[in-house]
Amino acid sequence: MRGRLVTGNWKMHGNRSANASLLDGVLAGMTDLAGIECAVCVPFPYLAETAARVASSKLGLGAQTLSEHESGAYTGEVSAGMLADMGCRYVLVGHSERRALFGETDGQVAAKFAAAQRSGITPILCVGETLAEREASRTRDVVFRQVDAVLEACGAASFAKAVLAYEPVWAIGTGRTASSEQAQEVHAFLRSRIADRDSGTAANLRILYGGSVKPGNAAEIFAMEDVDGGLIGGASLVAGDFLAICRAGASPR
Ligand code: PEP
Repeated sequence: MRGRLVTGNWKMHGNRSANASLLDGVLAGMTDLAGIECAVCVPFPYLAETAARVASSKLGLGAQTLSEHESGAYTGEVSAGMLADMGCRYVLVGHSERRALFGETDGQVAAKFAAAQRSGITPILCVGETLAEREASRTRDVVFRQVDAVLEACGAASFAKAVLAYEPVWAIGTGRTASSEQAQEVHAFLRSRIADRDSGTAANLRILYGGSVKPGNAAEIFAMEDVDGGLIGGASLVAGDFLAICRAGASPR
C-alpha cells in the first residue's frame, strides 16, 4: 500500500525567528507521529538552517522550485544539485503560482522535473485547473495536458521516483476546498493516465491533494482511495494545524 505524505509549502512567508518557533512546534509534535511521512518546503534562504534543524528528525526538507539548468550563467537561479547539496529530499515543480505568475510552461516544468531527478531529488509535480476551466468541464483535459508534458519528456517510469499533486487553482489559499468526491475523481483520472503507460508505477504513485486543506477537512479528503496525502499551504504555517493534518494522514485508510 502507498504510504501517505503530507508536505507543507511555506511559500514566501516567515523569517528566521518565526521559522524557528514554527519548527520547534512541528518537531515537538512529530515524535509521536508514526505511519506518515511529513516534510516542509521552505524558501531558499532558509534551507541551510532548516536542514540543520530537521537533520535528526523524521521531518523531510523540500524546496519550492528549481532551475531546469544544471549550472552556469543563470543569475538568481538555484540548481537541483544545489538543493541536493542542502539536503533537500523534495522539490515542488509546476506549482500553479509558478505557472501563472512566472510564466512557467509545461515544457519548462518537465525540464525542471527531469533536473530534480538527475540530482536524486523527488519532484512533486503540481497540476490543476482554474475555476473557469472547471466550469467549462475542462478539468480532465487540463490536468492530462500538464501530466502528458512530463510523460512525453521523461517517460512513465520516471513517476516511480516522483510525487504528483492535484491542486485545483480555485482552491489554493481561497478557503474553498474541493469536495472529497471531486478530489477522488481527478486523482483517479490522473492515476489512470499513468496506468495507461505503466500500471505498476501508477499503482505505487503517491498523489497528494492540495487546496485549503485544514485540520477540519483533512481526514475526509485523505480517506479517499486515490488520495495519498496533502500539499498544505496556509495551514502549514501554524504548527498545531500542520500536525493535526499530519495526524489525519497517519490514520489507517
Ligand atoms: C499550496 O500552497 O499549494 C496550497 C495548497 O495552499 P493552501 O493550502 O493555502 O490552499
